[in-house]
Amino acid sequence: MSWQQIQQQNFRCIKKLARFLEIDENSFLIDRNPRFPLNLPLRLAKKIDTNRLDDPILLQFLPLQKEGDSVAGFETDPLGEQLVKQSGKLLQKYSHRALLLLTSSCVMNCRFCFRQTFDYEVKNKTFEKELSLIEQNTTCSEIILSGGDPLSLPNAKLQTVITSLQQIPHLKRVRFHTRFPIGIPERIDAGFIELLKQTKLQIFFVIHCNHPAELDSDIFNALKQIQLLGIPILLQTVLLRHINDTKETLQELFEKCIDHAIIPYYLHQLDKTKGTAHFEVEEATGRKIIEELYAVLPGYAVPKYARETRGCLSKTVLC
Ligand code: SF4
Repeated sequence: MSWQQIQQQNFRCIKKLARFLEIDENSFLIDRNPRFPLNLPLRLAKKIDTNRLDDPILLQFLPLQKEGDSVAGFETDPLGEQLVKQSGKLLQKYSHRALLLLTSSCVMNCRFCFRQTFDYEVKNKTFEKELSLIEQNTTCSEIILSGGDPLSLPNAKLQTVITSLQQIPHLKRVRFHTRFPIGIPERIDAGFIELLKQTKLQIFFVIHCNHPAELDSDIFNALKQIQLLGIPILLQTVLLRHINDTKETLQELFEKCIDHAIIPYYLHQLDKTKGTAHFEVEEATGRKIIEELYAVLPGYAVPKYARETRGCLSKTVLC
């Protein structure tokens, strides 16, 4: 089965997911008509414990009534991304690097996502304007392929974009920010590996994973194919209440990753996106967890704990 066919098995209907997980779809906790729709790969759903609403994977994807709560400080564009738009699909937050938003589509819809209300440009499917802006910006040496999830694009489209980027002389690196292999590791198919092999720019891969239960050997085997090309893989994680806000959970996650040469890169403080306040962990708790992790993990296995603040020239490292 192709990754596109596998993706068609994603749960998009709350009733079907509730039946699969033996949970009460009529629970007053669940939002059955969410603005940001349910989207959950079957592989991840199979890892969720049945008959409970507090499973750490389920909590990341199940739309809850709490998302309707209005909480001071939580807004639709907490990072001010509309202000740093160079064009519909190009953002420049920091110097020397820029984000190319290849697609609005994701393999899964994470309830805490800071781009869940992002005003994506969906009409114009080409990247001509963005490529021209990158070409004019001669201080930019790195492009971050983001979205949505850049691996939602088929290989041929990715190839076209990367071929164009390669022709820009001042670009040195391309970074993929993706959660796709966690939901559908089959996305790392032969065509994608071939595309990576042919790319002349230095590639970095940054995967997003929040809980050790999301990982398995199929995912590591898929990522190994990328590592065998000499491409570093980094991990980014969002600190989430009742999901991964303990030393034990994060220790297990980071250990699993370093066992497969995936380097923990950032532990992100939650971005204050409207409807996500119930995921927030206090910064003091985050700092304490990081200090505890230093006592049990090698230094390279402890990520930087950081917050992104609108208008700042870089992320703020908290610990
Ligand atoms: S995969 Fe990434 S971009 Fe997509 S919903 Fe999740 S956090 Fe947001």
